[in-house]
Amino acid sequence: MDRLFCRVLLSGRNLSRLCWVIFFLFVEAVFPSCQTVPVSAAAGDAPLGEFKAVVVGSLKPGEPFVVAAAGKLPQEPRAAGRMQAALIRGERQLNRGVFFGLGETSSRGPVITAVMAVPSTAGAGPAILRIEAEGRVVHTLEVIIGERFFAAETIAITGAMSDLLTRPDPEKTAQAEQMWAIWARTGEEVFTEGYFIVPVNSTVQTSRFGGRRIYKYPDGRSSSSIHAGVDWRAPTGTPISACAPGRVVLARFRIVTGNTVVVEHMPGVYSLCYHMDRIAVAEGDLVQTGTRLGDAGATGFATGAHLHWEIRVATENTDPASFLGRRILDKEAILAILND
Ligand SMILES: [Zn+2]
Repeated sequence: MDRLFCRVLLSGRNLSRLCWVIFFLFVEAVFPSCQTVPVSAAAGDAPLGEFKAVVVGSLKPGEPFVVAAAGKLPQEPRAAGRMQAALIRGERQLNRGVFFGLGETSSRGPVITAVMAVPSTAGAGPAILRIEAEGRVVHTLEVIIGERFFAAETIAITGAMSDLLTRPDPEKTAQAEQMWAIWARTGEEVFTEGYFIVPVNSTVQTSRFGGRRIYKYPDGRSSSSIHAGVDWRAPTGTPISACAPGRVVLARFRIVTGNTVVVEHMPGVYSLCYHMDRIAVAEGDLVQTGTRLGDAGATGFATGAHLHWEIRVATENTDPASFLGRRILDKEAILAILND
């Protein structure tokens, strides 16, 4: 009887169906994170019933945005490998953020948020925001990335500067790795909800964020890069201040960026001041808006005294101007959307 059953099962179409079942079971076992979830019709849909996830604000290249969620969360917010959100276009991940507790409760329950950024290199058009818990996709939102234009600039490089940029140096590599480790860390402390200020009293911006740069070397060669911050003209000795409350996580000399101060402001959000003549704070210090971080200078890779001011969000460089005059973590707006 068993033998007859097996013969029927394995004959013709049944055999090919069995092969497909085995194939899918294999894929699910080997790639559990490949679970697919239907894309919701519009941002704000709540396919998990009690759980709601939303994008707060619009998405533009080189600018930050906030993802907020509340309700019956698929994972304990403080669990190791916290819930994450990934901005995806096609096969490419544009950015990845980690959720943290906002310290607010909506009508659906405690609110979690992730501060993320659209890379300045992302083109306009649709993308997908994937929300993940325990490594599995639990929700997807369709989003639209707006259009933005970035200026081009050409910079003549001196022999010494060329050496600084191109000469292989293990110490330079170690410093770059240390900086990336800082940017990649998403803490849980919210030192500020936003409202950043320009950290230097200067009226001359010598280089804008996102500028597509061509470096011209003395030997005729050239290379390209994208300016990750804004440059303010500032004579040596000009006071440099903290742009918002936070904790100093790096205050030391680096080969390329000179005397450098990095301040953590909220989970995954860091401001950076480069090329300073003097540093006036120490790692671990808590600072308020306006606390003096040091003095402007021309240390490291600099063509003259200036302040390079940069803000990293979930490792991505973002336009510091998009942090001025508004709160990034606008709690009223977040609660209004989640309560809706
Ligand atoms: Zn710069």
